[in-house]
Amino acid sequence: MTAPPPGLLEALRRPPGAALMLGHVHPDGDVLGTLLGLGQGLEAAGWRVTFAGPHPVPDVLGFLPGAERPAGTFEVIVLTDCPNDERTEGLLAGARSPESAVVNIDHHPDNRRYGTVNWIDPTAAATGEMIFDLIMALGLPVTPAMATNLFTAIHTDTGSFRYSNTTARTFRIAGELTALGAEPALVADRLYQRRPKGALATLGLVLSRVNVSADGRVAWLCLPRGLASDAFISAEDLVTYPRSIDGVEVAVLLREEAGGAVKASLRGKGGVPVNRIAHHFGGGGHENAAGCTLRGSLEEATAAVLAAVGEALGGSAR
Ligand code: 5GP
Ligand code: MN
Repeated sequence: MTAPPPGLLEALRRPPGAALMLGHVHPDGDVLGTLLGLGQGLEAAGWRVTFAGPHPVPDVLGFLPGAERPAGTFEVIVLTDCPNDERTEGLLAGARSPESAVVNIDHHPDNRRYGTVNWIDPTAAATGEMIFDLIMALGLPVTPAMATNLFTAIHTDTGSFRYSNTTARTFRIAGELTALGAEPALVADRLYQRRPKGALATLGLVLSRVNVSADGRVAWLCLPRGLASDAFISAEDLVTYPRSIDGVEVAVLLREEAGGAVKASLRGKGGVPVNRIAHHFGGGGHENAAGCTLRGSLEEATAAVLAAVGEALGGSAR
């Protein structure tokens, strides 16, 4: 656990100007919750804050207060939970001038330190924990909307406080955010109790496709294009189902995307660092949650990823 570096506090303690809170591709609860939570705090301190990113906010996270998006160049650009600038799909390059302070705050161990100030703490369960400490260090008042955003960041990245990244610090910060107005039941309701009619039938169809290796150590799920809608896939954390099987050490979701690409999500349970497998294909992430994108057909990508998983496990995956 580290404290915000002095250069970062300086960048945000300068007289308020224009700040860009910039998201990465396929934004999730951690990046949106932290950008919105910190951005709202900076707004209250007098900054003109723009929220932007390369991809729209998924419907399931649309309840987070303050999700808007325009562009330009900015004195301060804050990126959270974003391990490399390629994940902004050129938006960082377009928004930064030579004078911009680029503030890079993240908990990914493979962060590439592309900021003018970098604060990387891989011991944080979510970037949400770091932004909470930052807001405290800046002395910004925390509104219930900010607390909800940060609580959601932590809630989603810890799998509702179930994953091994959950620590006493996680609960302490979640407790403080609850005292400041975050409502745990409301966040859980919005994340998990708002499925559209018909989603369970799709879920049944999708889950009937889960495969388990002969030795029971690997489970995977392949989603051909058109089997389920993008909204369904971004609302459901589908890789958690193959992961939930007893004895499975590595779970993989392979999703066919437009233009001959396959997105792979990898999850581990502590035995094998799955980010090493993702790095092999140019991706990245955490020891127990990582991802990458491959070129080729769904069958080819599946074979390549399962071979790499099998190698990591010291055996065959099929
Ligand atoms: P997910 O599987 O939910 O997309 O991502 C799990 C974790 O892996 C997240 O921490 C995410 O940032 C990281 N991740 C997923 N895909 C990629 C990728 O293509 N490149 C990098 N560097 N990280 C990724
Ligand atoms: Mn995160």
